[in-house]
Amino acid sequence: MGRISTLAGIVVVALFAATAAYANENTCPGDPGYAAETRVVTVPTTGGPAYGNMQYPQTVPLGPKEVVLTFDDGPDPESTLRILDTLDRHCVKATFFMVGYYAARHPEIVREVAARGHIIGTHTWLHPNSLRSYSLAQAQREIRRGFEAVEAALASAPAEDRQRLAPFFRFPGLNDSAALIRWLGERHVATFSCEFGADDWKPIGSAEVRRRAIRNIASVGRGILILHDTKPRTADMLSSFIVTMREQGYSFVQLAPEPESRIRAAAVSDALIGAVEPLAVADIRPATAVAEPSLEPDAALH
Ligand SMILES: [Zn+2]
Repeated sequence: MGRISTLAGIVVVALFAATAAYANENTCPGDPGYAAETRVVTVPTTGGPAYGNMQYPQTVPLGPKEVVLTFDDGPDPESTLRILDTLDRHCVKATFFMVGYYAARHPEIVREVAARGHIIGTHTWLHPNSLRSYSLAQAQREIRRGFEAVEAALASAPAEDRQRLAPFFRFPGLNDSAALIRWLGERHVATFSCEFGADDWKPIGSAEVRRRAIRNIASVGRGILILHDTKPRTADMLSSFIVTMREQGYSFVQLAPEPESRIRAAAVSDALIGAVEPLAVADIRPATAVAEPSLEPDAALH
């Protein structure tokens, strides 16, 4: 009897140890109580769907209280790195819509974003808020150069990290055009709008950005949030924002392209991703000195 209970005790201890090890592996070290892994939702890009109910009838399939974090306009040598550290601490993966010009200037940050497991989409070369007023050829060149710049930055990265560049695109200022969405669609690149923003491009304090993000998310319940990784006020509020959202029962979800969609996007003859040898960074810099692109959005949102 005594021997049996000792044996049972050993089994219980062994089971407990195994469970504890399992829990440790699956728990976020910097944010105990939450998972180490971010749930990934794969979305098709074939045919170029446009996602985000702020502008489009269709959006990404999320459960109640699931939020996708997206960061636009970077990479930025200060704020982007701070944001990456905060996301790591809380074990949250996000999507970054990068401006090609900045990707060419800071290729090491592009590689860092990919190495830390985030998905990268693009946001044109110079962030023209009036892309829809460009000629079609000029606008297409803006979009293509944005993809090429990120591709060039990732050229020296491990294959797994290069795959982080997704056929995902967001229009600067969300100023889309039907002709460009169609053109992107022929290349199997999905367009992303959002469900909510946080006004972090406006001259407001970080506490106000946080307040507006929480308020706007609560009013819809689930969806894609637009933030800007170029803004110190966004980096300032991010940790506390994540903690509060989680306390309120929200969870964060990462979007990724369906693998077959990505392969199809890369196989198009004039593909925007993965089809051409990336140009050297020197080749894709503006031929003449270009003024710092204005990233102050002129649309109502950004
Ligand atoms: Zn932008």
